[in-house]
Amino acid sequence: MDNNIIEKEDNAQRVFLSEDIIDVVEILKDYYGYIYESMQDEKFILKYDQCNLFKELLFENKVVGFCTYDFSRQFITASLNNIYVLPEYRGNSIFKKELIKTMEDHHKPSIMEPTRLIVELLIRYGFAKKINDDIVASAIEFVIPGSHVESNTVYDNEELATHFYDLKSCRSIHILDLNKGYIAYSSPLNYDIIHYDCMNVIDKSYLNGIVEFFKNNDVDLMKTILDLEDMLPIKNYTLEEVIGDDDSLSFYIETLIDDSHVTYDKALQIKQQIREEYESGMILNESLLIRLAYLFNENPEVTIKSHEETCPYCDMPIDDHDKYCHFCGINLSFDADDLQNNLIQSLNTSGSEFREDIRFIAFKFLKLISEKIDLDYSIFTIENNYDVAWSQLKHFLDKNNYFRDGQITDDGLDFMKSHPLYFWERYQMQIVDYTDFENYFYKNSGLNPYEICLNYLKQFGDDEYIMEIMDDIKRDFN
Ligand SMILES: [Zn+2]
Repeated sequence: MDNNIIEKEDNAQRVFLSEDIIDVVEILKDYYGYIYESMQDEKFILKYDQCNLFKELLFENKVVGFCTYDFSRQFITASLNNIYVLPEYRGNSIFKKELIKTMEDHHKPSIMEPTRLIVELLIRYGFAKKINDDIVASAIEFVIPGSHVESNTVYDNEELATHFYDLKSCRSIHILDLNKGYIAYSSPLNYDIIHYDCMNVIDKSYLNGIVEFFKNNDVDLMKTILDLEDMLPIKNYTLEEVIGDDDSLSFYIETLIDDSHVTYDKALQIKQQIREEYESGMILNESLLIRLAYLFNENPEVTIKSHEETCPYCDMPIDDHDKYCHFCGINLSFDADDLQNNLIQSLNTSGSEFREDIRFIAFKFLKLISEKIDLDYSIFTIENNYDVAWSQLKHFLDKNNYFRDGQITDDGLDFMKSHPLYFWERYQMQIVDYTDFENYFYKNSGLNPYEICLNYLKQFGDDEYIMEIMDDIKRDFN
């Protein structure tokens, strides 16, 4: 059989991508007869006959298998629906390499109706974890077509996406409503029925047991998913990559204009909207592309209604471990009032009004970081608003040990909490001139900072507003 194997000099993975449907068997017959034969020999069942992305799987310059994806034309979601590796090449982590490559180059894929074997591989690769003997939490989501979803409640044939799998019944499972005990699960797959004794596992008490387990372990389950997700090598898209630079539109926007019949002017509007939303913290880097696709889709409709929790912005279902809405891309921990005000204020109090002390700039930078603004964007903001290069600021931060490995250190937190701007902002002292206050603050730096503020404000006599500020400070000081 080895004689037939296609060899590649450059190890380049061939990819078939089409906006139309690709017939998987046709490609196999036309180009990879030896793979098709091997599949027939071991009675391998293709899960899906069609795809729109077909990729070769290579090992040591040989084409030893393939995988296929349902690939959204917006280049945003890729859902793995078939994977096959020649038997003699299994055990070489070929599937793992494919998943990692997809994540590093592109985006986190999901998997259509995984078999138990696939879930066990995900566990071995560290992308999923057993929570007890049967229940598995996976950082990579499983997608079940609506027609293959079963439930103990009325379920409307909606496509299901879930992070959980039950090894004993060989089914992806998803809690719809914990309090009511509603749960949805995938229909059994032929492959699993043949290989495991999984057909008669599910009954009422079994489902109740699962719901009970989720009830008792909800915090652990959420934490496990978040930890697993944090370890994935997912490509971090920058704002510029997704929307383009000042003068041009990104590849993604160009494609979306072609695909969704959106005018050029509208595209520019969307570009501007995303920039503003991103800058205010409404969108995370990992949800930039989803947001872009959402805004280009002119009449996004709410189609899934059987979940307990929904996104406050678009009403689509969310899970409590979701960082962002998978439908509209909004950062779910975004607090519109809080975050936006802080950011606007931080941008408004920029440059010209104040003397640009490096300590002042460092404070502004650390504040952006503490507000979970992306590092690149924080640097960009600082460099654009102040007369400083990142290398200078970094030198200052390093020297004082305020910022290490992308995190604010304890020294950095202490620095922030003893900075005059911290007090000026915290007690809303905009009524006094910041520069003057800062000078006074540093001149008296031997004193307790609360005392410094009180002493400074005293000089304004009995202004009512100042008195209020002083009361606030005194309350915190005592
Ligand atoms: Zn949403």
